[in-house]
Amino acid sequence: MKTPYFMIDEQKLINNLEQAKKLKQLSGVKLVLALKCFSTWGVFDVMKPYLDGTTSSGPFEVRLGAEKFGGETHAYSVGYSQEDVEEVLQYCNKIIFNSVSQLQANRHLADGKASVGLRLNPGISCAGQDLADPARQYSRLGVQENLLIDELFDDLDGAMFHMNCENKSADAFIALLDSISERFGRYLEKLDWVSLGGGVFFTWPDYELEKLAAALKIFAERFDVQLYLEPGEAIITQTTDLAVTVVDIVENGIKTAIVDSATEAHRLDTLIYNEPATISEASEKGNHQYVIGSCSCLAGDQFCVANFEQPLAIGQKLHIADSAGYTMVKLNWFNGLRMPSIYCRRIDGAVEKLNEFTYQDFESSLSRFLIS
Ligand SMILES: *Cc1c(COP(=O)(O)O)cnc(C)c1O
Repeated sequence: MKTPYFMIDEQKLINNLEQAKKLKQLSGVKLVLALKCFSTWGVFDVMKPYLDGTTSSGPFEVRLGAEKFGGETHAYSVGYSQEDVEEVLQYCNKIIFNSVSQLQANRHLADGKASVGLRLNPGISCAGQDLADPARQYSRLGVQENLLIDELFDDLDGAMFHMNCENKSADAFIALLDSISERFGRYLEKLDWVSLGGGVFFTWPDYELEKLAAALKIFAERFDVQLYLEPGEAIITQTTDLAVTVVDIVENGIKTAIVDSATEAHRLDTLIYNEPATISEASEKGNHQYVIGSCSCLAGDQFCVANFEQPLAIGQKLHIADSAGYTMVKLNWFNGLRMPSIYCRRIDGAVEKLNEFTYQDFESSLSRFLIS
């Protein structure tokens, strides 16, 4: 098989989904997959039995969720034009607005078509970096508490909070939940449903799933609402490798193994969040250290620094672990690099090709209507 390629492991995906199922059973929460994290619909058949539907932003994402996943389809965007709203209403059964002005301008369009919600900003979060923190100063994500009035909730069906990113602690989540109960409870009582967003990392090893489930159940009963979570990363974490090949090794004060992929094109979050990737073949105790360098033209584009037991060789394959989330959805054609193919290793061991990209895909992504 020609590198670069993604290999999704069906068994690992099912292991995560089993945790999701357990959470649903224990808590009564519904789970909608956040398509912005992962929308490789070739494996949706594996996921459908475990999840309740999808949540999306842009009109194309909403449509993909409705057509390829089915179940409940939530639509939320930071900013919808009227045309967007009309389009997504053909596919979604819940639409969540980001501001009071978006709600007021568009809510009538949803009458008889979709349940209507508003995103509220709790002003607190567990989200690590400022770039990804919905509660950062001057955040545009959701309505701030001081702008809320009771009347606003009279013709609303639901509300959405999203304030976590890879939150691995049930206690930290419960602290946010308690604060939301206290400050927003009188509004939530008027609603049918509340979504608590994504970023709750309930598939992390040793995550206190029962504790989370109990807290969700109490919250739902207290306000008499159907609760939702919108997991992305938690569903597909640790399921997928990005396989690459070493094409050169250069030594300029430090050894750099150059591979046939780039973070900027194929694993963008490595670059955006400056979070080094993990190479499956690496070993902390190894004496042979390399920068795993990208083949793009960006000077600082590298996957990580890693140690190996044996020296690397040109032609050798390496596997960049945990490469499912926010990768395939962000692929781009920078530098005209070969786009990674996408495969799935099924539970019976068979390898299925889900996608492969050609020169024509690259060409048509740039201009298509010229006659020449
Ligand atoms: C990004 C996002 C999610 C998914 O987040 P994960 O960290 O991948 O679980 C869910 N809901 C909203 C509103 C988001 O912006």
